[in-house]
Amino acid sequence: MKHPYDFVVIGGGSAGYNAAQVAVGLGKRVAVIDGARKLGGLCILRGCMPSKTLIYSAEVLHMAQSGPEFGLRVPKASADMRAVHARKKRIVGGFARYRVKQLKSADFDLIRGQAHFVDPHTLELGDGRTVEGKHFLISTGSKVSVPPIPGLADVAYWTSDDVLELDFKPRSVVILGGGIVACELAQFLKRVGTRVCIIQRSPNLLRGHSTEAAHEIRRAFEDGGIEVFAHTKIIGVREGRGGISVMFKHRGKTIRRQADHLLNALGREPATSGLSLEAVGIKTADNGRILTNRWQQTSVPHIYAAGDCCGPHEIVHVAIQQGELAARHAARLKGLTPIDPSLLLCVVFTDPQLGSIGWSEKDLIEKGVAYSTASYPFYDHGRSILMDADYGYVRVFADRKKGRILGAEIVGKDAGELIHCFSAALAMRATVHDMLRAPWYHPTLAEVITYPLEQLAGKTREHQ
Ligand SMILES: Cc1cc2nc3c(=O)[nH]c(=O)nc-3n(C[C@H](O)[C@H](O)[C@H](O)COP(=O)(O)OP(=O)(O)OC[C@H]3O[C@@H](n4cnc5c(N)ncnc54)[C@H](O)[C@@H]3O)c2cc1C
Repeated sequence: MKHPYDFVVIGGGSAGYNAAQVAVGLGKRVAVIDGARKLGGLCILRGCMPSKTLIYSAEVLHMAQSGPEFGLRVPKASADMRAVHARKKRIVGGFARYRVKQLKSADFDLIRGQAHFVDPHTLELGDGRTVEGKHFLISTGSKVSVPPIPGLADVAYWTSDDVLELDFKPRSVVILGGGIVACELAQFLKRVGTRVCIIQRSPNLLRGHSTEAAHEIRRAFEDGGIEVFAHTKIIGVREGRGGISVMFKHRGKTIRRQADHLLNALGREPATSGLSLEAVGIKTADNGRILTNRWQQTSVPHIYAAGDCCGPHEIVHVAIQQGELAARHAARLKGLTPIDPSLLLCVVFTDPQLGSIGWSEKDLIEKGVAYSTASYPFYDHGRSILMDADYGYVRVFADRKKGRILGAEIVGKDAGELIHCFSAALAMRATVHDMLRAPWYHPTLAEVITYPLEQLAGKTREHQ
């Protein structure tokens, strides 16, 4: 049967927009459906771009306040939250306008409306219109989850959306959760002058990252005046005259923390509830994520999924890769390769930043890989000493025999940039010896990477 569209994309965020562009480039008839009041997707409107704009303002403020450390006299620096907010609005507005222009001028039909499946080849929109297609991509993103914590649903808690819209300095905030969003926003709030307390259920901040990285970032947070409770059991949340209070168990004691505001940063869940996935037999995991195979096909093979709605990572470049792969697979392109999990790249925009790529030590142990590892601290490196950037380290993992790079983790100043020194090396399956043949300028932060590489080169030579 001939359908009006070859490829119908539900959700025009990072995954959906890029998938649609690829499908158009392959000569397909494409429609993008998006039901948002404001087009642009999470990354531009309420995710990466606004958060990093604010975090950078806070970093500049912190640098100004650190003037005396560098022999500088800086008049008392403080945040003008209205101006910080206005700058963010202007910058994000520019990105959003550009994306809307791209969506509206592209060679696909942009259809506004919330879509749900009525049969495996037909979507219905809120106003009753229908859209038929041969292949579909679900890229509907995620929404903040509200775990069943007693009292949480009854108080006026903030989400990351609210923090990104602040045009005043809150006096105090208690943050539930210790993941990436929680940590990044905690430090932003602290730096603009808010009293911040993090209450986290897992044993360490930044679950999924190494214990060593979590400890280093926690040390920096506590040195900077953020109160952190990890390994807690939250008993309940209550709103009273003095603000919002959270009761929790920690090391056998019951503790209460109260603040003017509460930020629920306990995670996000797939935005799939209104899609009628059951009606067409699309399977989901217990956490609601759409299950896909390595080509991003759902359990209904002509329907694909990409981005936060299927995971497993909430990372923009991964969402884009998934969407583009789905578009190419649906077009039956030959020679495709699935997304390579051994190249997973992640950055946390705290200070010190955290960058990781490839396999972690936990992955390598689980896989039974024979690996060597070496690390080097920032406090012993010339450039970081002169920059007063002594938190952190570089750790590298390499195959024990030949020294092929398997993964790396950097905690430290600009780690999100530095970790990219390993991107091409990993993709090209380079060894520590290959990386050491490259030139490294002195005195740069990047130069610190050569020290663990040298150690590993020595170790692998012993095995050769
Ligand atoms: C505060 C914060 C900071 C972040 N920082 C980073 C970062 O620094 N780096 C990074 O890589 N990632 C970051 N992320 C995560 C990143 O933003 C997401 O992983 C990414 O934007 C997800 O893209 P997506 O295409 O899956 O979904 P989205 O961009 O959310 O797009 C989904 C689209 O689908 C539409 N839609 C939903 N349901 C329907 C429906 N039924 N019908 C029609 N349309 C529908 C929505 O309107 C939306 O436009 C951050 C997230 C947050 C919350």
